[in-house]
Amino acid sequence: MIREADFARPDTPPRISLTRFRAGEYDPAVKEKRAILPGFRRELERIPPYRVFTPAHEIKLNQNESPIDLPAALREQILIRLRETPWNRYPDYPARPLESLIAKRIRVAKARVMVGHASNELLYATALATLERGKTMVTGAPGYPVAKLAATLAGGRIVEVPADARYQYEVDPIIAAIRKHDPRLVFLPSPNNPTGSTLSRDDVARICDATGNLVMIDEAYREFSGIAIQALLGRFRNLVLLRTLSKAARLAAFRIGYLVGDPDVLSRIERAKPPHSIDVPAQIAGETLFASRDMLKAEIARVRRERTRVMKSFAKLPGVDVFPSRANFFLIRTEDAADFDKALLAQGILIRAVGAAPTAPPALRNCLRISLGTNRENNALVAAARRYFRGGDR
Ligand code: PMP
Repeated sequence: MIREADFARPDTPPRISLTRFRAGEYDPAVKEKRAILPGFRRELERIPPYRVFTPAHEIKLNQNESPIDLPAALREQILIRLRETPWNRYPDYPARPLESLIAKRIRVAKARVMVGHASNELLYATALATLERGKTMVTGAPGYPVAKLAATLAGGRIVEVPADARYQYEVDPIIAAIRKHDPRLVFLPSPNNPTGSTLSRDDVARICDATGNLVMIDEAYREFSGIAIQALLGRFRNLVLLRTLSKAARLAAFRIGYLVGDPDVLSRIERAKPPHSIDVPAQIAGETLFASRDMLKAEIARVRRERTRVMKSFAKLPGVDVFPSRANFFLIRTEDAADFDKALLAQGILIRAVGAAPTAPPALRNCLRISLGTNRENNALVAAARRYFRGGDR
């Protein structure tokens, strides 16, 4: 049962609204002004709105998307089906045809797959399904900021386990934190965003062994890592894998993600998810992709080759630290990161100043995250970096 107190107005209005919205200050046209905001959950005062700033650019290396679109033939198939499907009817819910196709492709039983409105929605649903006041999420730091937003919104407590000095996961401290805090949820992306650090299959098994509660491994970038942990699902009922079609599968525009896990676990998370959230275009796009024989192997191999090449070039630049990554992006640190970021943008290259984000921990100071693009885009990036740092290997 939902206890009213959990959602009631805070007893005292949050201080921020009093200062920011003092009567008469924010809308001079309104005669009747109220000094305070209507009631909201107190946690919201600790959550900055998630915004992505996208200035004009030619080369987009800031969101870890695929630099290439779907093949034209697949795009056409999606458009044809979309044209033929009624728009006045609700989408299938649950989206069983899409779930079946995914299950077949990844070779698990249908009941082990649950799709959602991209992985962010499934992450929010998982946080809502597991956390509440007094319950803890253990996660890594630096980690995926959206997990912290979701856990905060769910009313949970967050325990962050710091990475090592090279931003790589350290498993023993994660296990120690699990023993100490008995979290309801352990959330660990592998590869991690923004660091690119990974957990091995043995690491994940040790973590799952340390708790009976949910361990969610966010595999948004798994295709680029070559690490397969799906086989552990047979051993651990508390393991759930979070996946997305936004990265390697090149469907970021459609918002499709899925969970793989124990059917009873998925059924609990399903209850925290809004109905009908995967709309008809997303279902059609996902179904078309999974029904096709379109193989991504060559593109994934290309990204991995480019990762080695581009990271090596950056490692040779004076004053630039490059941290190990098995994702389709990598993290660097340099003394005046903001200036380098600006210089790249002046040449039309947009990367992600992760150290400057409102959610950024101090450990990311002067860090920049760079997604890998096409070979031509990567060449332009490396050339611009060499010009900026001069003295690099020209
Ligand atoms: N998890 C991780 C680790 C990510 O980096 C991202 C994308 N930035 C997501 C989840 C969310 O992806 P989507 O909602 O597009 O599935």
